[in-house]
Amino acid sequence: MPIKTYYHSRCGGHTESAKAVWNTSEKNHKVGVPCPYCRKFPLNWQIKIKAAELFNLLKIPHFERKPFKIGVLKKTPSGRVNEISIEADNKKFAINSEDLRNLLGYTNVKSTRFEISNTPEEVIFDGTGAGHGVGMCQWGAQFLAKKGKTYREILAHYYPSYKISSNTQSLLP
Ligand SMILES: [Zn+2]
Repeated sequence: MPIKTYYHSRCGGHTESAKAVWNTSEKNHKVGVPCPYCRKFPLNWQIKIKAAELFNLLKIPHFERKPFKIGVLKKTPSGRVNEISIEADNKKFAINSEDLRNLLGYTNVKSTRFEISNTPEEVIFDGTGAGHGVGMCQWGAQFLAKKGKTYREILAHYYPSYKISSNTQSLLP
């Protein structure tokens, strides 16, 4: 059976299961694998967003002039942020981090491997890596290829427990 061969830019140290990222019932990509290889080309990024703008996008109240606190509620097994919380005025909101990436733009929040903090005016993301983290890490794969690993070895690393088959008949219409 063919599988969906997900890939992404840089995992930042460990790839991720499909379930942890998309909460799918998909049986493939059950586990992530360690990937120390892309760490040699770290992509560290930061974005700041005005608190009022974020509250607007999330369609939650502004809490004007009231202090608020933003933090990590839940992490995935590989250490990515799964859910963030916003607490203010004795209310607590939970937001899924992939939904947040979708809302703020995938080029702004490059991955869910981030720390989050806030000032009274701004929310600050300090992150590393790029992409959802499921399947093959492209920068890691490039590093392994340059070290002389074959495509079979690279695929076996990022897609463990799957076999490579040259029988493509089942893919044809
Ligand atoms: Zn990687």
